[in-house]
Amino acid sequence: MEEQLRSLRQTALKELSKANNIDSVNELKVKYLGKKGLLTGVLRGLGALSPEERPRLGQIVNEVRTELEHNISTKLEKLKQAELADRLASEKIDVTLPGRMVSMGHQHPLTLTLNRIKETFMRMGFDVAEGPEVENDYYNFEALNLPQDHPARDMQDSFYITKDFLLRTHTSPVQVRTMQAVEPNSPIRIIAPGTVYRRDYDATHSPMFHQVEGLVIGKGIRFSDLKGTLELFVQEIFGNKVKVRFRPSFFPFTEPSAEVDISCVMCEGDGCRVCSGTGWLEILGSGMVHPRVLAMSNYNPSIVSGFAFGMGIERIAMLVYGIDDLRLFFDNDIRFLRQF
Ligand SMILES: [Zn+2]
Repeated sequence: MEEQLRSLRQTALKELSKANNIDSVNELKVKYLGKKGLLTGVLRGLGALSPEERPRLGQIVNEVRTELEHNISTKLEKLKQAELADRLASEKIDVTLPGRMVSMGHQHPLTLTLNRIKETFMRMGFDVAEGPEVENDYYNFEALNLPQDHPARDMQDSFYITKDFLLRTHTSPVQVRTMQAVEPNSPIRIIAPGTVYRRDYDATHSPMFHQVEGLVIGKGIRFSDLKGTLELFVQEIFGNKVKVRFRPSFFPFTEPSAEVDISCVMCEGDGCRVCSGTGWLEILGSGMVHPRVLAMSNYNPSIVSGFAFGMGIERIAMLVYGIDDLRLFFDNDIRFLRQF
């Protein structure tokens, strides 16, 4: 029995010294020290020995057991350390790698277009005015010569919040607010950019879109001033080659009124799909401020006169950049937006 223990000890130590990973050491632990392990088996056999031999051999078994336990845990500790060192070495961060790029955003094509429009008019001495997007019926319609039941209200029927308040359908209320904020008959030269809302949705209309209005009032302002201002504006935005055409039209707040067309930027006037074969593109509405609109804001139409104009920023941006669907501006598709 003593002989058996000695060889068991030797084999165990030999196997342990050969074990070179944590799993195989754990296997040895089970093999010798486990419940059904070899050493445990010897321990069980002690019962068959005589009472004189039992204590001595029991002590040897315990000594072997302690020795194996100690060697196994030392070996395990060593292997764990080595594994950690390996991991640290392999996971070392290479600080010489280039960093992750932080991608910078940029301005939306509508903002770019609006900024160009603003710059153009500011160079001509215009101020920029702003007004509320939730507007009351008086400023949005009434004071612009669009009384209740006026048929032109239908063209821009909108989102009402209450009977008297709505999301503004145009930036024209800013004209009225500006006139009423200053001394009657004092000169005005403003543009009013902003978001407006109408009940429309297709390739060229969105329920939310952007306008820029302009208003000039003073003594002796004539239609020729309107023409000169808008012709210069068009050339600044679309270039010198573009031709400008004024076409009679109707707006309740101007008299006379004119639509402004430019020669088609796609076909240069030859006629194409974008201009429906006409060679012309409508870009804005304009006219001399209606005397009644002046009078309603305490301006005296026999002393001062003025002109006004309004355009959709989306429309201008579509023509400048050659975009055929207005809804692209609001889809937030990064592939589209990256192109500007
Ligand atoms: Zn064309």
